[in-house]
Amino acid sequence: MSLLNGKFGIVFGVANKRSIAWAIAQAWARAGATLAFTYQGERLKENVAELAGTFGPDTLILPCDVTRDEEIARVFAAVQQRFGKLHLLLHSVAFAPREALEGDFLNTSREAFRIAHDVSAYSLVALARAAAPLMTEGGSLLGLSYYGAEKVVPHYNVMGVAKAALEACTRYLAYDLGPRQIRVNCISAGPVNTLAARGISGFTEMLRHYEAKAPLKRNVTADELGATGLFLASDGAAAITGQVLYVDCGYQIMGM
Ligand code: NAP
Repeated sequence: MSLLNGKFGIVFGVANKRSIAWAIAQAWARAGATLAFTYQGERLKENVAELAGTFGPDTLILPCDVTRDEEIARVFAAVQQRFGKLHLLLHSVAFAPREALEGDFLNTSREAFRIAHDVSAYSLVALARAAAPLMTEGGSLLGLSYYGAEKVVPHYNVMGVAKAALEACTRYLAYDLGPRQIRVNCISAGPVNTLAARGISGFTEMLRHYEAKAPLKRNVTADELGATGLFLASDGAAAITGQVLYVDCGYQIMGM
């Protein structure tokens, strides 16, 4: 398949081979895209270098904590230097302090609220602003959301509020960037067993609940998220922007 031949992309959020970002990056690369990757902190550098290295020894890999404007600026300067232009950006990044994902939402501290929104929602705005000048041929920005943005999912707490902000940012960015033919969408993924997911208390129960209640009677796979990520990046989705697409085996349609 060569749906993304000649396209350049950047991927934020690969931590290891289970990361949703890795599934989408593989789908993009298989479709012909040339990708750059970022990692947060030295701790993940080796993991990301090993995975990204499978696309060739000269794959661009850069450090980026998305809460740091100077690191974002360095990343896009390097992308400009290497690729000259950009077509695809994957935002697959989220974080909230662990204590905010346990107990009552009522007890969310000001600091936990700030951090969750900075890392998980504002970062999409910051990355879009830096990427847009390089997307001279149009582009596709893709974020990852979750159902807890629209309904109460026990323990998801402040992350649900941050995902609601991410989805609203997606719509406002889609409006601002539309005239430049830059599309902005989110995949709202059903639960997948990743590093970030294991930080949510009761996550295993969540997987079982989806299997029992979703119309397809199973959980989504990472490969399926990769395939949807490829669709949204491709010309097949050329007229789709500002949307949240549920890739959750149908769970979102259920009333009980
Ligand atoms: P993951 O593999 O742990 O990926 C999360 C990534 O976010 C990690 O690479 C993490 O790096 C990165 N990150 C956190 N803080 C960052 C920062 N300040 N700067 C840069 N990167 C940072 O987990 P995942 O499940 O694939 O998560 C990817 C996205 O999918 C997230 O937006 C998540 O909310 C969303 N999502 C996940 C599920 C699910 O069930 N897994 C469902 C719906 C949506 P560190 O490891 O260094 O923190």
